Amino acid sequence: MKKILIGTHNQGKFKELAYLLAKRYRKISPKSLKLPSPKETGKTFLSNSKLKAKFFSKFVDYSIISDDSGLCIKSLGNKPGIHSARWAKKYGGFKKAMRLILKKLKGQKNRSAFFICSLTYINPSGKTVSVVGKIAGKISDEMLGNNGFGYDPIFVPLKEKITFGQMKKSKKINMDHRHIAFQKLKKKTKIL
Ligand code: IMP
Repeated sequence: MKKILIGTHNQGKFKELAYLLAKRYRKISPKSLKLPSPKETGKTFLSNSKLKAKFFSKFVDYSIISDDSGLCIKSLGNKPGIHSARWAKKYGGFKKAMRLILKKLKGQKNRSAFFICSLTYINPSGKTVSVVGKIAGKISDEMLGNNGFGYDPIFVPLKEKITFGQMKKSKKINMDHRHIAFQKLKKKTKIL
């Protein structure tokens, strides 16, 4: 069976990418290989996904897919953005970070936001392909739902009435920013 390293220590992302990847791949996690995480020094989602894939390629001789993603809120100047994971760390977890966001948006009419995901694929000969996918929506008035991970309980995608946190997992995985990016990557690489 062909192996692929899903270059993330985030369980939520790992599960989504493992679901999206073809069944013929044996999906390996960095955790199972006891690999460290790279420093996210990039200034964009794209540069961070590239640096993550490059970092993990030093440890394995098979394909890698990496993900850098986050939530961008228009009225907060697109924050937390590339700092989405760091905000959760800084403020004591996702619940607290979400509470802070809801507080910052209190009375705010513009609740527009988008989730963005950059994926990078590196094959064993070093060929690198990167893509970006986005999904637009808005921030809900309160945290709703226990499904998914991260900021899912406060994000309502366009044309939907419920948050990602309230949505069936399979529905979210088949419509979100990661899914959109993955379809682009599949088209470009023709092998995933
Ligand atoms: P990073 O890509 O490792 O910097 O982490 C991105 C962070 O963005 C994650 O820890 C989550 O907080 C958030 N994030 C990215 N994608 C999603 C998603 O699909 N749902 C909820 N939160 C997400």
